[in-house]
Amino acid sequence: MLVRNGWAFIDGQFQQADVRVENGRVAEVGALAPKPGEQTRDAQGLYVLPGFVDIHIHAFGGADCMRGEADVRRMSEGLLETGVAAFVPTTMSAYEQETYDALCGIQAVMDAPPARGAAVLGAHMEAPFLALTHKGAQLGECLVPPSMEAYDGMVRGLGCVRMMTLAPELSGALAVIEQLKARGVITCAAHTAAKAADIHAAADAGLTQITHLFNAQTPLHHREPGVPGAGLADDRIIVQVIADGIHLHPDILRIAAKCKGAQGVALISDSMEAAGLPDGEYDLGGQAVFVKGGAARLGNGVLAGSTLVMHQAVRNMIKLANIAPETVIPMATSTPADSIGARGFGRIEPGAAGVLALMDADWQFAGVVA
Ligand SMILES: [Zn+2]
Repeated sequence: MLVRNGWAFIDGQFQQADVRVENGRVAEVGALAPKPGEQTRDAQGLYVLPGFVDIHIHAFGGADCMRGEADVRRMSEGLLETGVAAFVPTTMSAYEQETYDALCGIQAVMDAPPARGAAVLGAHMEAPFLALTHKGAQLGECLVPPSMEAYDGMVRGLGCVRMMTLAPELSGALAVIEQLKARGVITCAAHTAAKAADIHAAADAGLTQITHLFNAQTPLHHREPGVPGAGLADDRIIVQVIADGIHLHPDILRIAAKCKGAQGVALISDSMEAAGLPDGEYDLGGQAVFVKGGAARLGNGVLAGSTLVMHQAVRNMIKLANIAPETVIPMATSTPADSIGARGFGRIEPGAAGVLALMDADWQFAGVVA
């Protein structure tokens, strides 16, 4: 497949360039002529972007990674059609056996991916080492104190865990951060009552990300900058941001982009099963979620994930937060990929994953090449 005449995002800039995709990989970039018999796609007037990388996503299109392999497979297939090249299915609070079962489903899809789907890069565990006071839509009764014993009880030697979100102020959390780092697992802070000093100490121990900045954590105050203040100020930390226009005010999106830049913000969907589906009543971890105007809330009004898709997050950062596209695109592609060491994703270059997201001049999604 040759994608011709588009504005391709290469080396941090938009360039008029053709992109050849062969055998699931980017084969060539430049001024290219079609080979005999080769399929072509005219991308005149379109932006040609690397496929998106979503490192925090629970569910999509009625499929939820907590429900096992078949649902992870459906997520993979559905997400590809929204321009996502790779994702990290994210578990939520559940009992030990349920968590293990969910991880087994994620592992199974990694081991035997669908013929056409977004790649599963591993699992992101968003629970259970969280602060009850900031549980958000996580189930309080499933939260436990951080320990490697509890971790090993849930994971049981599976190799799929790539990220874990925890509350770093909890007793035992720093040791878990150090141990997980030694095992190659990225740790992130959220659902936490941490003060700024706790976040800097956690970064000393190896923590590298804040999960959904500003959401389910202490607020930024000028004498106690809390989790978001420390995350924005600490150059060792990348911040995950839900750019749906509901979780964060556009000014906050702009502040995060200005503080951290293209390499310091990872756009995430944090989506639940209603993403890609109309308003209505849905499920999150056994709790009823009511989706109205795209906002997903529990009966008590607490936000319960989002219905965001990555291309809409990109559009919101450009249109609502007024951030330059050259700064926004890495936030949805190379920055999240690099943040977890996922090679071959997030850039248009020979050898990289052959998934391209197309967007029009108004930053509306215009299709995927895969
Ligand atoms: Zn969360």
